[in-house]
Amino acid sequence: MTATAETDVLVVGGGILGAWSSYWLSQKRGLTVSLIEQGEFPNSCASSSELLKSFPLTYGKDSFATAVAAKSMPLWLDLNRESGQPIFETIGFLELVSSDGREAEESLRVLGELKLPIEKWDKARIQKRYPVIRAPGVKFGLFHPDGGIVWAGRAVSVLTALAQKAGVRLSPGTKAVSVLKGPEGVLGIKDSAGKTRRAKSYLFCAGAWTAELLKPWKIPLHVTCHDQLYVRPPFNKGRYHPRIFPVLKSSKEGVCAFPLHFRGYLKIVDLKRGKPAKPGLLAAEEGSSFLRRSRAFFARFIPELAEFTEWEGCQRAFAATKDSNPIIDRLPKAANAYVACGLGMEGFGWAPLLARNLADLLVGGRSTLNLQRFRLGR
Ligand SMILES: Cc1cc2nc3c(=O)[nH]c(=O)nc-3n(C[C@H](O)[C@H](O)[C@H](O)COP(=O)(O)OP(=O)(O)OC[C@H]3O[C@@H](n4cnc5c(N)ncnc54)[C@H](O)[C@@H]3O)c2cc1C
Repeated sequence: MTATAETDVLVVGGGILGAWSSYWLSQKRGLTVSLIEQGEFPNSCASSSELLKSFPLTYGKDSFATAVAAKSMPLWLDLNRESGQPIFETIGFLELVSSDGREAEESLRVLGELKLPIEKWDKARIQKRYPVIRAPGVKFGLFHPDGGIVWAGRAVSVLTALAQKAGVRLSPGTKAVSVLKGPEGVLGIKDSAGKTRRAKSYLFCAGAWTAELLKPWKIPLHVTCHDQLYVRPPFNKGRYHPRIFPVLKSSKEGVCAFPLHFRGYLKIVDLKRGKPAKPGLLAAEEGSSFLRRSRAFFARFIPELAEFTEWEGCQRAFAATKDSNPIIDRLPKAANAYVACGLGMEGFGWAPLLARNLADLLVGGRSTLNLQRFRLGR
């Protein structure tokens, strides 16, 4: 550590990736860590702050992505045990396949090869298991029992609390406004209080804000907004409880529906890339087409929900790369700084494994997971 460094690692951004990384670096790798976050832990404007995220294991023929998700699972289960809270729940993930089914068949093959449970269901099987779900025009259902949900905001709170217990200095309400660059690396971070924070190494996990903060490095992230609705079921609320209702996805519609959460609402999310946006949270657009698409989705698959009258909507900005893979890399010409962002629309669940590998990179310069695919200059 240099004479002026206050800590081994300064982590910028307390979303799921920053929270998991701080936890690994401190509790598991024994480094001194400071974590600065412009909002709260979690920040309600950030992607990681919501109640629920889906955890799929089906990535078509992409066996690497499938293996990343599969290796992340035990790490989430460890967190459940350590915190004593059900943050990750394997409630089952059902994909309704209406297209040619090629991608679903590839998922079947890959999960089979990895010896992970996956089942191909006909309509009768779907309705037997989930009587509330109809499947007109559906070729088959792809069900993987190990898929499920992560209680997202709770995960960030729990991880930052555990990290703090392990000695991490948490600074909520502190924005990194600029990065001080030297010829060989990052020299410090200027924060919103005018303080310069110095560390031996820096890790940038600033989500949709990353490109703005790291402008000189031209991080190739595209920020778009995604619609989501929270719908209160008019009938039969008990039927949508996470213990008896899966994560339900239809790729054809580009929609994913979740079980009921404890505030009595069921979430439905637009998986299609939206319009370019600024980072943050936006109100839903007046007359949003997603409202119509959600009703159409329910009318087809869960008719009793189609006439919902109570709902709340919002648009959430989200940052992704062109190929939808995360960026995990050292910053060019900055030997002591790393960036981790662009997790993808189904990448929340990968955070523990990516963070563990980031911690190994920072500690020993090597990771167990081959990070070639996540390189900045790919
Ligand atoms: C509508 C929607 C639905 C989604 N659904 C799913 C899903 O079902 N399953 C799934 O796996 N994924 C889903 N995703 C994607 C997932 O949420 C993200 O990939 C993930 O949360 C990104 O985490 P992150 O930590 O990289 O970034 P973020 O959650 O954005 O965290 C970055 C943090 O950095 C902070 N920050 C930024 N700049 C600064 C700064 N200069 N100084 C200090 N702090 C700063 C921010 O305040 C923020 O808290 C969804 C995304 C959206 C938008």
